Parts: sequence; C-alpha cells; structure tokens
Amino acid sequence: MTEKQKKRLYLDYAAATPMREEVIQAMEPYFKKQFANPQANHKEGREARTAVADSRKEIAGVLSVKPDELVFTSGATESNSLLIRGVLEAVEEIDQPQALFCATDHPSTTGLTAQSDRHKNISVTKDGQMNLENLEAKLTPSTALVSCAYVNNEIGTVQNLPAIREHVNSFQGKSKSRYPVFHTDASQAGLWLPLTPERLKVDAMTINGPKLYGPKGIGLLWVKEGTPLAPLFVGDDPHKKVSDYQTTRPGTLPVPLVAGFKEAISWAQKNHEEHQKRVSEIRDYGWDLLQENFPSVVLNGSKKNRIANNISITFPNTDHDYLQARLNQVGIAISTTSACRSEMKHSPTLASLPTDNDEALRISLGLETKRSDIDYFVQGLKQVLKN
Ligand code: PLP
Repeated sequence: MTEKQKKRLYLDYAAATPMREEVIQAMEPYFKKQFANPQANHKEGREARTAVADSRKEIAGVLSVKPDELVFTSGATESNSLLIRGVLEAVEEIDQPQALFCATDHPSTTGLTAQSDRHKNISVTKDGQMNLENLEAKLTPSTALVSCAYVNNEIGTVQNLPAIREHVNSFQGKSKSRYPVFHTDASQAGLWLPLTPERLKVDAMTINGPKLYGPKGIGLLWVKEGTPLAPLFVGDDPHKKVSDYQTTRPGTLPVPLVAGFKEAISWAQKNHEEHQKRVSEIRDYGWDLLQENFPSVVLNGSKKNRIANNISITFPNTDHDYLQARLNQVGIAISTTSACRSEMKHSPTLASLPTDNDEALRISLGLETKRSDIDYFVQGLKQVLKN
C-alpha cells in the first residue's frame, strides 16, 4: 500500500471539527451573490445587514439572550481577549483591577495578564475542578473579573459554573460591588452541553465556531447588558453602528461566516443531548478498552464530570510526544495536550493539576467516531507501544 492509500483515523476533534454541508450552504450566497458590505447604505448593503441581523436574532434565541449583547469576533482567542482586556480597562470603581483565572485554563485567557500583578490563578482539585475555597480566599475588593472555562480543552473537566457563581454572589453581597464580572470560555462545550447563560449563571461567555462543525475564523462573545467593556481595536464609526456591544469590535462583519456560525450553533444546541449521550458511550467504551489492554494507563481529569468526547491518558515513564508522532506515522491523528500547545513540551494544564502527570495523549472524539475507530486506535497504540 502506498502512503496515500493508508487509512487515516482522526481523533482530534477538540482541535477542529469539519464543517457540515448545511453550514457551507448557509454561507454560499454571501460569498458571491450577496457580497456587499453590511455597513453600506445601499440596497445591497442593507440586504447583507439584514442577513447579519437575522442571524444575530436567531443566535440570541438559541442562547436566550438579547441580540445586542452579542459580539461577532474572529474566534475564541479574540473573544477572550476582548472580554478580559475590555473589562480590566473599563473598570472605573477599582484602582488596580485584578483578574482571577482557573489555573488549568487555555492560554488565550490565562496568558493575557500572566506576567503581571493583575493576575491570580485559582488552584484546582485532582480531577481539575476549580478549588472553591481557594477562590473564596482570593476574591478581594480588587477583583474585577473571574474567568473559568466551562470545559477544559486538555483534560475535558466540566466545571460547576453555578457553584462558582454562588461564591461570586456572596462576595458581591458583602462588598456591595457589581464586580467581579464572571466569564466562561465555553469553546469546548457547544456540541455537548447547553449554552444558556441564565442556566450557567455567567455574565459573559466565549463561543468558538470551528469546534461546532462551523467555519473557522469566527467566534462569539456574549456580554450581559450593562457590563462595562472597552474595545480592543479602534476604527468604529458611530454612524455605522450595528448593535451596542458589536461596536466594541469595529471592522467589516464577515457575513458568510456569521451565516455559517448561526447554522452551526443552532444545530449544535438543538441536538446536544443526543450528541452527548451517543458519544459519551463511545468514550466510556474507549476508556474501558484502554484499561483492559494497558493496565498501567492513567486517566487525567474527572471520570464523572467529563465532556462527552474527551479521553486524556498518561502512560507512566513514557515520552508522549514520541507516542503521538509514532501514532501519526501509523495513520492516527491525535494531540498530546492541545493543538495550540503542540510545540510545547509540557502542558500548563497538567502542570497545574495536583498530580504527577506532566504529559498526556488527548483523544478527542467527534460525531463521526465509531466503536470500530476506537478498536483501530487501541490496535495502533499497541503497535507503537511495542516498538
Ligand atoms: N479556548 C479554548 C478552551 C480552546 O480549546 C481554544 C482552542 O482550542 C481556544 C480558546 C482558542 O480558539 P481559537 O484558536 O479558535 O481562537
């Protein structure tokens, strides 16, 4: 068999998902036919503006929020930057505002203030849950923001956001302050869990298009009405105002991506229960099979509070970068930690966990993944571990 004909198995859906055909179709008219700038004041521009407004309205309905509270961005990294920098800059009541982060979170949140005295990490428990006692100890009148990912991108731990909110609320009650703003990065959650801010009890939320079988290059930031937010970029013309919070993100809106994102998130949220049920069964099958075949394997993160598509494992005394490279050679695409950290030897998520593991393989399943794919993966792993 030539290199080209070899079967490839993709198990890196936490890094990127393919686009659904319906998403491509939803975007299609806005590439060539209705290409006008949605901020332009002619018929064509107005039509593009209407397409954006309709998408905004539909997404707001899906999330049960107000359309004006939504900001389209270029992706989750930008949504996180806009929210974190924007809140810290907009605070007037606090002299030197600080932000608290869940220690295991993605660098697009934790990295923004990491080297400054505005930044504090909240420790996590062994299974990756935010340590609520540590949160309580670190909340001070200087805390302007608490940010915690809904689902960790490496180990798949699902956080109890309402429990974190309770601590934030009780602090706010005592301090009589509207701060801290409570933000979640829900990049890894949208296919599997409901994303309604009312239910999650957050003030701001990041959503990521390409993790939802949507287009790359688009993300969303939801910001609760009344939350002070400074823009990241300059360039807004008040006459071209699209909606309230969107003005914090000036620039021509990518109409095709907005239409594709709307299609992706509407479908993902409509079907999340079925996705969660079906794929978590395959995940559990995978973990059982791994234990059967490799008795020394260790699961990172929580067994119970785990996202449907994540199996993060460690083999003691093994070079996981080498394993990942060998798996790639035999036709299996997975990551060690996360795609954006693939150049880094050690994972800051694993380093922040109170466990001894500092390397891992992240197997992330998609809606296409079948039990037979898991069998194939385990066979491949056996082969590379033997050599
Ligand atoms: N936040 C989380 C939890 C992620 O998993 C990712 C990407 O993997 C990001 C943020 C960054 O997303 P993007 O690279 O699309 O901006």
